[in-house]
Amino acid sequence: MSAPTAPLPDLHHHRAVEQLDPLLSGHHPLGDIAEKVVQGERLTQQDGMRLAESNDLLAIGTLADAARKLKFEAATVDYVYWIHNYHINITNVCEGTCRFCAFSRRSPKAKEAYFLTVDQIVDQVAQYPGLADLAEFHIVSGMTPDLNLAYYVALFDKLSQHFPHVHIKGLTAAEIDYIANLDGLSHEDVLTTLRQHGHRSMPGGGAEVFSERIHRMLYPDKISHEQWLAIHGKAHQMGLKSTATMLCGLGETWQERVDHLLLVREQQDKTEGFTTFIPLNCWYDNTAVDASNALTGVENLKTFALSRLLLDNIDHIKGYWIQHGLKMAQISLSFGVNDLDGTVIQEKISHMAGTDTAQYVTKAELAHTIKTAGKIPVERHPDYSPRHIY
Ligand code: SF4
Repeated sequence: MSAPTAPLPDLHHHRAVEQLDPLLSGHHPLGDIAEKVVQGERLTQQDGMRLAESNDLLAIGTLADAARKLKFEAATVDYVYWIHNYHINITNVCEGTCRFCAFSRRSPKAKEAYFLTVDQIVDQVAQYPGLADLAEFHIVSGMTPDLNLAYYVALFDKLSQHFPHVHIKGLTAAEIDYIANLDGLSHEDVLTTLRQHGHRSMPGGGAEVFSERIHRMLYPDKISHEQWLAIHGKAHQMGLKSTATMLCGLGETWQERVDHLLLVREQQDKTEGFTTFIPLNCWYDNTAVDASNALTGVENLKTFALSRLLLDNIDHIKGYWIQHGLKMAQISLSFGVNDLDGTVIQEKISHMAGTDTAQYVTKAELAHTIKTAGKIPVERHPDYSPRHIY
C-alpha cells in the first residue's frame, strides 16, 4: 500500500513564510510574533507594543511584508493600487477649533476664506482634462451652516447627473455629525438621504488619534472616538464602505497609536466595512502644534508595519504620498502598504499646513514608483477591482 500523498505545498504561502525564517529559527526576540503571523494568529496589544519598542526595523518590515503576502492570493500579492481621483474641498470656512488644522478659517470674511457653489464645482470638474477617465471624487470640507444637507443633496445630484461615471466618496464622520446637528436629524437620516442622491462611500478623516488626552488638548469640539466609530459602524450596516485613518505627530504615545489600531480592529470585527486603513502625518505650518512631535522616518515605517500587523481584518493599508512624499510612500511598500492613494488633483488641506509634496502626480510617475519597488502597479476601481494593470 502506498503512503498517503502529502498535499502539495502552496508555493506562495511557502515563500511568504520562508521570508520569516531568520526570525523563526534561533532565538530572535520577535520570533514568537513571527510564529503568530505564520499561523494567522491575532496579535495582542502587548505584541503591538513590543514591535513599537523594538529597534529592529528590518525585522518589523519583514513581518509586515509577510503578513501582506499571506493575505492575498499569489496572482494579486504584488499588486499596489491607486485610483484616479479628484479632491473637492468645498470651503475652508469651519466652526471647528482643531489646533492642528491650517486649512480652516473661522469667518467667511477672513483672508483666504473661500466657498464654492455647486455650479462652480461642476464647472471646475468639467474643465479637468482627465475627466473621461476619472474614477472617484473625494469630498471633504470645513463645517459651516451653508454646507447643510440641502447643499450636499444639490451637489450630489449635479455631480451624478453631469459625471455619472465618477464614484462619490465624501463626508467624514465629523461632517455627518455636524450636518445631523444642523438639520436636526439622526446620523442614519443624513446617510440615508445622501445615499439616495449618489453618495457611495465615506472617507476616514476626522478620527485624528483616539486618545482622550490629545482630544482634550487639540480638538475638544470634535466628535469623540466613540461617535466616530459609531457613525462608521452605522454606515457599514447600511451598506456603505469607508476608510479609517490615524493622524500621527500630535504628541501621541506608541501606546495611544496601538490602542487606536485596536479600536479600529474591534469596529471592523463588528461591521466589516473598512476597506482601507491610512496612517496620516500632521504638518505644522500655520498650526498650534509643536513640530518637534513630527514622526521620524523610522517611526513612520513602524507605523505602516504596525497597521498591517495589527489590522489583520482590513485588506488594504495606504501610504498617502501627498503627506509622506512619494519616496517614503515607495519604501512603505516593503512595510505592509499596498495602496498609494491616487493621482490626487487639487489637494488643499495638507498643503495649507506646509506639505511640500506636489499636488498631483501623473499615472506614469506612480507606475514607475511602484515598479521600481518590485511591485505591480494597478489602477483600481473604488471597490479595488483592477481597472488597468501596468
Ligand atoms: S480639522 Fe476639520 S473640523 Fe477641524 S478645524 Fe480643520 S476643517 Fe474644521
